[in-house]
Amino acid sequence: MKFYIPNSISSDIRKKLGYVKIRKIKVITHPNSIKDECLENVRSYIANHQGEVQFGWKFSLLGNVILRLIAHAVVKKENNDLICISPNEDLKEINFLPDNSIKNMIEGKYLPGKHLSLIKNKNIKEYALLLDKAEKVKFELLPENFQIELDRINSKASFYLPTVYSESIKITKMDEYCYCGSGILRAFCHQ
Ligand SMILES: [Zn+2]
Repeated sequence: MKFYIPNSISSDIRKKLGYVKIRKIKVITHPNSIKDECLENVRSYIANHQGEVQFGWKFSLLGNVILRLIAHAVVKKENNDLICISPNEDLKEINFLPDNSIKNMIEGKYLPGKHLSLIKNKNIKEYALLLDKAEKVKFELLPENFQIELDRINSKASFYLPTVYSESIKITKMDEYCYCGSGILRAFCHQ
C-alpha cells in the first residue's frame, strides 16, 4: 500500500473537510524549477515574471482511509489564474485548495503537512497522528536524532497498519481507485 494522488476529490471527502473551494489547476513546469522546492520556485519565478505567491494544499490518499494534505505554493497570475510550476509529480493538473494562512506555518523552507482519518476508527486516527508526528520530527530534530525518533514512530505505526489495510479493503468499491495506491480502478486491480 502506498499514498496515491487521486484524479478527483470525491464529494464525500469535500463534505468531510468542509472544503468547498478545491479546484483543479494546471501544472506548467518552469525549466528552472527544482523538485519539492515549490516555495523557492515560485519566489524566483515571480522575481522575473508577473504574479504573486499563492499558498494552499494538495492531496494524496492512503487506502482511501487517510487523507494527506501537503502545503504547496503556486503562482497567482494578475488575472487570478493559479499555475503550479514545480515538477513534484508527473501531472498535468493537480487538485488544489487555496489557503494563505499556511504562510504563518512555514519554518525556514519547511512547508507543513497533515493527515486526516476519513473513517470513524480509533486505530486509523492513531495512525494519522503518528504520520503527523513523523512529519514534524524531520524538521524539529537534529539529523543525528531524527532517524532514531523516526524509527520509533514507524515501529509504533506498524501496529496500526493491519487495520489501515483491512479497513481500506472494506471501504473501497470496485469503481473507485484501488486501495493499494496503483491509481487504477479496483475492478482492474485488487478485486
Ligand atoms: Zn490494487
